[in-house]
Amino acid sequence: HLEIQNISKSFGENEVLDQLNFSVHQGEFVSLLGPSGSGKSTLFGIIGGMILPNSGDVILNGESIKGKRGSISYTPQTPSLLPWRTILNNVLLGQELTGKKDREKALQMIDRAGLKSYENSYPHELSGGMKQRVSFIRSVLSPQSLILLDEPFSALDEFTRTDMQKWLLDMWEQTKRSILFVTHNIEEAVFLSDRVIILSPRPASVLKEFQVPFERPRREELLLSDEFLQ
Ligand code: ATP
Ligand code: MG
Repeated sequence: HLEIQNISKSFGENEVLDQLNFSVHQGEFVSLLGPSGSGKSTLFGIIGGMILPNSGDVILNGESIKGKRGSISYTPQTPSLLPWRTILNNVLLGQELTGKKDREKALQMIDRAGLKSYENSYPHELSGGMKQRVSFIRSVLSPQSLILLDEPFSALDEFTRTDMQKWLLDMWEQTKRSILFVTHNIEEAVFLSDRVIILSPRPASVLKEFQVPFERPRREELLLSDEFLQ
């Protein structure tokens, strides 16, 4: 359970977040929308412990994680892969996974993401959308109970995106983790999540919040299924 409590953040004169309050329940999938520059990535930096807010607190399962790294899984908007490591090692070592089983699972996921022939390539040899997928795999493999995804599918073509969305939903249903997902696409937000939160322009606070009014099986039908494509 995550609680964002009265978070405010300025960079110099630039007031970015203004008394932001919301929560994400354990196992819930919440999408966050808001104008470009409203402070979504800044908020993720704060939840991830990389950025300190001017005031307010971030509570995860009853404990403050303000300024603490490593409590949650964070996939930044711009993938930050280590250039001197192969794709496979970026996936594994980002999570400090070294066992044989971990390696097999990582290879499976690289394959699942359509990157089979790239496992021994280096990040500079991949396209932007491919790097996004590597970054996404790292999140899926992480052990944390809360996953932050900052526009993870923004650089993907329609078909690959649909496939990744389906993968994300499967993973979410299997592992019951909480997900906070930033997107600019209202359709994506509505068909992936339980709840949608919309931020106001800067200085951002919660402008609107609504529960997605249909249930899981209905959402599965919305995703392009194999039958639909035939
Ligand atoms: P987008 O949808 O385009 O990704 P965003 O909602 O994620 O936008 P942020 O990246 O959080 O927006 O930026 C919010 C504001 O904070 C912008 O005005 C930006 O210039 C400012 N900002 C972000 N990071 C820094 C920083 N490290 N130093 C100074 N200003 C910053
Ligand atoms: Mg952003």
